[in-house]
Amino acid sequence: MALSTVRRQIIGCEECPRLRAYCARIAQDKRAAFRNDVYWGRPVPGFGDRRARLLVLGLAPAAHGANRTGRPFTGDRSGDFLMAAMHETGFANQALCRDKQDGLVLIDAYLSTVVRCAPPDNRPAPTEIANCHPLLQAETTALPRLKAIVALGKIAYDSYWRLLAERDITVRPRPRFHHGLVCRPPGAWPLVVSYHPSQQNTHTGRLTPTMLVDVLTTARTLLDEQRPHGARLGR
Ligand code: SF4
Repeated sequence: MALSTVRRQIIGCEECPRLRAYCARIAQDKRAAFRNDVYWGRPVPGFGDRRARLLVLGLAPAAHGANRTGRPFTGDRSGDFLMAAMHETGFANQALCRDKQDGLVLIDAYLSTVVRCAPPDNRPAPTEIANCHPLLQAETTALPRLKAIVALGKIAYDSYWRLLAERDITVRPRPRFHHGLVCRPPGAWPLVVSYHPSQQNTHTGRLTPTMLVDVLTTARTLLDEQRPHGARLGR
């Protein structure tokens, strides 16, 4: 399936009534600071370079961030934090990620989330994660040059293993989630793990700008290690 088709599927998806209702209500009520904005209010597809070798996978749109702007990690503090690191490591042309008109271009990178609708309290239910997984699966399949993944947080980490299991790649025991973990399962996309750039992590210093830059630098090294038309990678 072409990436454009996957995007249309995502935008039109209504699988999770709780999330759809929440996103629509937030788009209606708005936050006072954004009262003049027209909220996107629909599922948010991934964004970036169609020929990306790196997928950066987060958790979900933020209610007043991507649910407002229609682009992942755009219009909120988490996006600012992430894009500063992506810019510093050459995966983005700029650190600014305010809205769809801001001129941001991702370079060799694609940005996506495990679920595409903002969940209340940033906590999707397991059934909602399961509902959305086929869309992630389709998106990764539609990125023909994909060579490595950065998982932002534990839920993205779990989704990575689920993607691999669907490709008949299993690792036992699975490594314990921790920031900076690098996994190289045979025949699969290598993975680098980061804490999620949520304000809960960035405000407390659990995740610093340097830590995220280091993760993306590691991802860059993994990409550079691979031959252009190398071994079978997770498909
Ligand atoms: S979270 Fe995913 S599966 Fe659920 S409604 Fe949104 S796009 Fe559809």
